[in-house]
Amino acid sequence: MPHLTSSAPSLDLIMQDVAQQVYPPSTLYVVATPIGNAGDITLRAVNVLAMADAVACEDTRNTAQLLHRYGLHKELIAAHEHNEREAADKLIARLQSGQRIALVSDAGTPAVSDPGARIVDAVRSAGLRVMPLPGASAAVSALSASGLLSDRFLFAGFLPAKSKQRESALQELKNVAATLVFYEAPHRIVDMVEALCATLEADRQVVFARELTKLFEEVHRCRLGDARAWLDAEANRQKGEFVILVEGAPSASDENDAEAERILAILLEECPVKQAASLAAQITGKKKNALYERALQMKGER
Ligand code: SAM
Repeated sequence: MPHLTSSAPSLDLIMQDVAQQVYPPSTLYVVATPIGNAGDITLRAVNVLAMADAVACEDTRNTAQLLHRYGLHKELIAAHEHNEREAADKLIARLQSGQRIALVSDAGTPAVSDPGARIVDAVRSAGLRVMPLPGASAAVSALSASGLLSDRFLFAGFLPAKSKQRESALQELKNVAATLVFYEAPHRIVDMVEALCATLEADRQVVFARELTKLFEEVHRCRLGDARAWLDAEANRQKGEFVILVEGAPSASDENDAEAERILAILLEECPVKQAASLAAQITGKKKNALYERALQMKGER
């Protein structure tokens, strides 16, 4: 059952706020659109799409359908990866004449693994204003539901399709401590996972964020070493749109801690806690008190 209806008074108030904001002319509005569920458009995005003189888009048919869902009919200008530069010249001329132009991609945030960056660059270089209308992005949505640390992440987008190039791209990412974020097409998902397994440690956590915001949405987290078995267990798991997240490389201090624990565990087999902590401190150079506390915990865990 929907909890929010269009007659809700709070929605009217928000719409007033939206309408009161200044939307300057001669501005390119970079508008994020939903990645699945049409409800994931912002009120500001709808407002800007409604007021824009034209909408520059990756695929005019897709965008016509999208706008139709919001009851909008607009002049559409094709701006895809093969004509970005020419499209930019056309858009600049229109912006210079005072128009407001919205820029959208097929889904999510334009210019993120999507066309748009060259147009934005050209418009800014022409001294014109560019305003972002934030909204859905598959990468950020996946991170938010993954439980992986996302205070630092590296967006790697689509890796090269050819195995040699993909392997060398992964080699470059192998030691990055931040969470890694990949986009991948369903027909390459198995190859991608195999490449990840061949390059990165099996113990790293991996998250498959599949069909986000859609009917069969699934966010699955497991060890990288178990990822292939999970994918193979059901045919549907290799279908749809994916974001793949991989836990970052263990930091040097994590590795030191793991090594100290390993030494402590061996010593605890042979010596009392105090002596094990003292010997471990001498071997590793770590603080005796911390090792003593950890040794007590380890004894308790047995
Ligand atoms: N600009 C978009 C964004 O902001 O996320 C990304 C566009 S990129 C061409 C398309 C890729 O994004 C897909 O191949 C998939 O990896 C990811 N993606 C898009 N929608 C998704 C969804 N609903 N669930 C999971 N991944 C999605």
